[in-house]
Amino acid sequence: MRFDNRDEKAHGDKEIVRPTRRDLAQLAASLRQHLSYQAMIGLEWLPSEVVPISQTSPETLDKIKMELGECTRCRLHSDRTHIVFGEGNPSARVVLVGEGPGREEDRLGRPFVGPAGKLLDHIIAAMGWRRQDVYICNVIKCRPPRNRDPLPDEIESCGPFLRRQLLAIRPEAIFAVGSFAAKFLLSSQRPISRLRNRVYQFEGIPVVPTYHPAYLLRNPLQKRQAWKDVQLLLSLVHKGDS
Ligand code: URA
Repeated sequence: MRFDNRDEKAHGDKEIVRPTRRDLAQLAASLRQHLSYQAMIGLEWLPSEVVPISQTSPETLDKIKMELGECTRCRLHSDRTHIVFGEGNPSARVVLVGEGPGREEDRLGRPFVGPAGKLLDHIIAAMGWRRQDVYICNVIKCRPPRNRDPLPDEIESCGPFLRRQLLAIRPEAIFAVGSFAAKFLLSSQRPISRLRNRVYQFEGIPVVPTYHPAYLLRNPLQKRQAWKDVQLLLSLVHKGDS
Protein backbone atom coordinates (compact mmCIF):
# COMPACT_ATOMS: atom_id res chain seq x y z
CA MET A 1 0.00 0.00 0.00
CA ARG A 2 1.23 3.51 -0.83
CA PHE A 3 0.31 6.24 1.60
CA ASP A 4 -1.00 9.59 0.30
CA ASN A 5 1.59 12.35 0.42
CA ARG A 6 -0.80 14.95 1.78
CA ASP A 7 0.58 14.83 5.31
CA GLU A 8 4.21 14.82 4.26
CA LYS A 9 6.31 16.97 6.57
CA ALA A 10 9.89 18.04 6.23
CA HIS A 11 11.93 16.88 9.23
CA GLY A 12 15.56 17.87 8.97
CA ASP A 13 16.90 16.16 5.88
CA LYS A 14 14.29 13.42 6.05
CA GLU A 15 10.71 13.58 4.95
CA ILE A 16 8.21 11.89 7.21
CA VAL A 17 5.19 10.46 5.43
CA ARG A 18 2.23 10.38 7.78
CA PRO A 19 -0.62 8.06 6.85
CA THR A 20 -4.04 9.69 6.57
CA ARG A 21 -7.17 8.32 8.24
CA ARG A 22 -8.19 6.94 4.84
CA ASP A 23 -4.83 5.12 4.51
CA LEU A 24 -5.30 3.59 7.96
CA ALA A 25 -8.89 2.56 7.14
CA GLN A 26 -7.65 0.88 3.95
CA LEU A 27 -4.90 -0.86 5.90
CA ALA A 28 -7.43 -2.10 8.49
CA ALA A 29 -9.73 -3.35 5.69
CA SER A 30 -6.85 -5.25 4.04
CA LEU A 31 -5.87 -6.79 7.38
CA ARG A 32 -9.50 -7.77 8.07
CA GLN A 33 -9.70 -9.41 4.65
CA HIS A 34 -6.40 -11.25 5.19
CA LEU A 35 -7.49 -12.55 8.61
CA SER A 36 -10.88 -13.68 7.24
CA TYR A 37 -9.05 -15.62 4.56
CA GLN A 38 -6.76 -17.23 7.16
CA ALA A 39 -9.79 -18.18 9.27
CA MET A 40 -11.50 -19.64 6.18
CA ILE A 41 -8.53 -21.93 5.49
CA GLY A 42 -8.59 -23.15 9.09
CA LEU A 43 -6.11 -20.94 10.99
CA GLU A 44 -7.47 -20.55 14.50
CA TRP A 45 -4.76 -18.57 16.21
CA LEU A 46 -1.86 -16.27 15.48
CA PRO A 47 1.47 -16.33 17.28
CA SER A 48 1.30 -13.74 20.07
CA GLU A 49 5.04 -13.31 20.07
CA VAL A 50 6.81 -12.10 16.99
CA VAL A 51 10.22 -13.70 17.18
CA PRO A 52 12.61 -11.37 15.38
CA ILE A 53 14.87 -13.01 12.86
CA SER A 54 18.14 -11.12 12.90
CA GLN A 55 19.28 -9.84 9.56
CA THR A 56 22.92 -9.72 10.59
CA SER A 57 23.70 -13.17 12.00
CA PRO A 58 22.35 -16.32 10.35
CA GLU A 59 19.66 -18.31 12.11
CA THR A 60 21.07 -21.43 13.79
CA LEU A 61 19.61 -24.12 16.02
CA ASP A 62 22.02 -23.05 18.80
CA LYS A 63 20.78 -19.49 18.61
CA ILE A 64 17.13 -20.59 18.72
CA LYS A 65 17.86 -22.86 21.68
CA MET A 66 19.59 -20.01 23.49
CA GLU A 67 16.65 -17.67 22.89
CA LEU A 68 14.23 -20.36 24.09
CA GLY A 69 16.29 -20.50 27.29
CA GLU A 70 14.65 -21.90 30.41
CA CYS A 71 11.29 -21.11 28.86
CA THR A 72 8.37 -20.03 31.09
CA ARG A 73 6.14 -18.79 28.26
CA CYS A 74 3.31 -21.21 29.07
CA ARG A 75 2.01 -23.23 32.01
CA LEU A 76 3.82 -26.42 30.91
CA HIS A 77 7.12 -25.18 32.31
CA SER A 78 5.96 -25.74 35.89
CA ASP A 79 5.76 -29.56 35.66
CA ARG A 80 8.53 -30.33 33.23
CA THR A 81 11.82 -32.00 34.07
CA HIS A 82 13.54 -31.07 30.79
CA ILE A 83 12.75 -29.00 27.73
CA VAL A 84 12.86 -31.31 24.70
CA PHE A 85 14.26 -28.98 22.06
CA GLY A 86 14.92 -31.56 19.33
CA GLU A 87 18.02 -33.36 18.13
CA GLY A 88 19.80 -34.70 15.09
CA ASN A 89 21.54 -33.45 12.00
CA PRO A 90 21.30 -29.65 11.63
CA SER A 91 21.63 -30.14 7.86
CA ALA A 92 19.16 -33.02 7.71
CA ARG A 93 17.35 -33.78 4.48
CA VAL A 94 14.30 -34.80 6.47
CA VAL A 95 12.85 -33.41 9.69
CA LEU A 96 10.34 -35.51 11.61
CA VAL A 97 7.92 -33.48 13.70
CA GLY A 98 5.90 -35.14 16.46
CA GLU A 99 3.41 -33.84 19.00
CA GLY A 100 5.21 -33.30 22.28
CA PRO A 101 7.35 -35.05 24.89
CA GLY A 102 6.02 -38.00 26.88
CA ARG A 103 7.32 -39.31 30.20
CA GLU A 104 10.65 -40.70 28.94
CA GLU A 105 11.31 -37.71 26.72
CA ASP A 106 10.68 -35.37 29.68
CA ARG A 107 13.00 -37.45 31.86
CA LEU A 108 15.85 -37.50 29.34
CA GLY A 109 15.33 -34.23 27.46
CA ARG A 110 15.34 -36.07 24.11
CA PRO A 111 12.54 -36.55 21.55
CA PHE A 112 10.97 -39.92 20.79
CA VAL A 113 12.91 -42.12 23.21
CA GLY A 114 9.88 -43.97 24.65
CA PRO A 115 7.89 -46.83 23.08
CA ALA A 116 6.65 -44.68 20.15
CA GLY A 117 10.26 -43.66 19.59
CA LYS A 118 11.31 -47.30 19.15
CA LEU A 119 8.84 -47.61 16.27
CA LEU A 120 9.99 -44.25 14.88
CA ASP A 121 13.57 -45.61 14.89
CA HIS A 122 12.37 -48.55 12.75
CA ILE A 123 10.64 -46.15 10.36
CA ILE A 124 13.84 -44.06 10.06
CA ALA A 125 15.87 -47.23 9.44
CA ALA A 126 13.36 -48.31 6.78
CA MET A 127 14.03 -44.96 5.08
CA GLY A 128 17.70 -45.93 4.93
CA TRP A 129 18.92 -43.55 7.64
CA ARG A 130 20.08 -43.58 11.24
CA ARG A 131 18.57 -41.34 13.90
CA GLN A 132 21.54 -38.98 13.74
CA ASP A 133 21.05 -38.47 9.98
CA VAL A 134 17.63 -36.85 10.37
CA TYR A 135 16.35 -34.16 12.75
CA ILE A 136 13.58 -34.99 15.23
CA CYS A 137 11.49 -32.45 17.13
CA ASN A 138 7.95 -31.73 18.30
CA VAL A 139 5.23 -29.10 18.10
CA ILE A 140 5.58 -28.43 21.85
CA LYS A 141 8.76 -28.76 23.87
CA CYS A 142 7.44 -29.55 27.36
CA ARG A 143 5.40 -32.54 28.49
CA PRO A 144 1.73 -31.83 29.21
CA PRO A 145 0.48 -33.28 32.52
CA ARG A 146 -0.50 -36.95 32.18
CA ASN A 147 0.30 -36.70 28.46
CA ARG A 148 -2.89 -34.79 27.71
CA ASP A 149 -3.27 -33.09 24.32
CA PRO A 150 -1.44 -29.76 23.94
CA LEU A 151 -3.76 -26.75 24.35
CA PRO A 152 -4.00 -24.03 21.68
CA ASP A 153 -2.17 -21.40 23.78
CA GLU A 154 0.66 -23.87 24.50
CA ILE A 155 1.03 -24.51 20.77
CA GLU A 156 0.87 -20.77 20.20
CA SER A 157 3.78 -20.20 22.61
CA CYS A 158 5.97 -22.96 21.24
CA GLY A 159 5.03 -22.80 17.54
CA PRO A 160 7.29 -19.88 16.57
CA PHE A 161 10.33 -21.82 17.82
CA LEU A 162 9.44 -24.89 15.78
CA ARG A 163 8.94 -22.66 12.74
CA ARG A 164 12.39 -21.13 13.26
CA GLN A 165 13.96 -24.60 13.66
CA LEU A 166 12.41 -25.75 10.39
CA LEU A 167 13.54 -22.62 8.56
CA ALA A 168 17.06 -22.88 10.01
CA ILE A 169 17.38 -26.48 8.80
CA ARG A 170 15.35 -26.01 5.61
CA PRO A 171 15.15 -29.77 4.95
CA GLU A 172 14.10 -31.24 1.61
CA ALA A 173 10.97 -32.58 3.27
CA ILE A 174 9.14 -32.65 6.61
CA PHE A 175 7.45 -35.81 7.92
CA ALA A 176 4.57 -34.62 10.12
CA VAL A 177 3.87 -37.55 12.41
CA GLY A 178 0.45 -37.38 14.00
CA SER A 179 -2.45 -35.01 13.83
CA PHE A 180 -0.96 -32.22 15.98
CA ALA A 181 2.10 -31.85 13.77
CA ALA A 182 0.01 -32.06 10.60
CA LYS A 183 -2.59 -29.57 11.82
CA PHE A 184 0.06 -27.11 12.99
CA LEU A 185 2.14 -27.26 9.82
CA LEU A 186 -0.82 -27.21 7.45
CA SER A 187 -3.02 -24.82 9.47
CA SER A 188 -5.79 -27.36 9.01
CA GLN A 189 -8.36 -28.94 11.30
CA ARG A 190 -8.96 -32.00 9.10
CA PRO A 191 -8.29 -35.43 10.67
CA ILE A 192 -4.94 -37.04 9.93
CA SER A 193 -6.68 -39.86 8.02
CA ARG A 194 -7.82 -37.18 5.51
CA LEU A 195 -4.56 -35.24 5.45
CA ARG A 196 -2.12 -38.12 4.99
CA ASN A 197 -0.88 -39.57 1.69
CA ARG A 198 -0.47 -36.10 0.12
CA VAL A 199 2.23 -33.47 -0.19
CA TYR A 200 1.66 -29.97 1.22
CA GLN A 201 3.98 -27.01 1.76
CA PHE A 202 5.19 -25.27 4.91
CA GLU A 203 7.05 -22.05 4.05
CA GLY A 204 8.06 -23.62 0.74
CA ILE A 205 9.18 -26.93 2.31
CA PRO A 206 7.24 -30.07 1.24
CA VAL A 207 5.33 -31.72 4.10
CA VAL A 208 3.99 -35.28 4.17
CA PRO A 209 1.60 -36.03 7.06
CA THR A 210 1.32 -39.54 8.46
CA TYR A 211 -0.02 -41.43 11.46
CA HIS A 212 1.71 -41.00 14.83
CA PRO A 213 3.81 -44.05 15.84
CA ALA A 214 1.85 -44.29 19.12
CA TYR A 215 -1.32 -44.70 17.03
CA LEU A 216 0.43 -47.31 14.87
CA LEU A 217 1.36 -49.27 18.01
CA ARG A 218 -2.35 -49.42 18.89
CA ASN A 219 -3.47 -49.98 15.27
CA PRO A 220 -0.77 -52.09 13.62
CA LEU A 221 -2.93 -52.69 10.52
CA GLN A 222 -2.44 -49.01 9.63
CA LYS A 223 1.33 -49.54 9.26
CA ARG A 224 0.70 -50.40 5.61
CA GLN A 225 -0.73 -46.89 5.06
CA ALA A 226 2.16 -45.32 6.97
CA TRP A 227 4.57 -47.18 4.69
CA LYS A 228 2.90 -45.53 1.69
CA ASP A 229 3.51 -42.15 3.35
CA VAL A 230 7.19 -43.08 3.84
CA GLN A 231 7.45 -43.90 0.12
CA LEU A 232 5.83 -40.58 -0.76
CA LEU A 233 8.25 -38.72 1.51
CA LEU A 234 11.25 -40.52 0.03
CA SER A 235 10.12 -39.63 -3.48
CA LEU A 236 10.67 -35.95 -2.53
CA VAL A 237 14.20 -36.40 -1.18
CA HIS A 238 17.43 -36.67 -3.14
CA LYS A 239 19.05 -40.07 -2.96
CA GLY A 240 22.62 -40.57 -1.75
CA ASP A 241 24.51 -40.09 1.49
CA SER A 242 22.86 -37.89 4.09
N1 URA B 1 5.42 -38.56 21.10
C1 URA B 1 5.70 -37.43 20.41
O1 URA B 1 4.88 -36.91 19.68
N2 URA B 1 6.92 -36.89 20.57
C2 URA B 1 7.85 -37.41 21.36
O2 URA B 1 8.94 -36.86 21.44
C3 URA B 1 7.52 -38.60 22.05
C4 URA B 1 6.31 -39.16 21.92
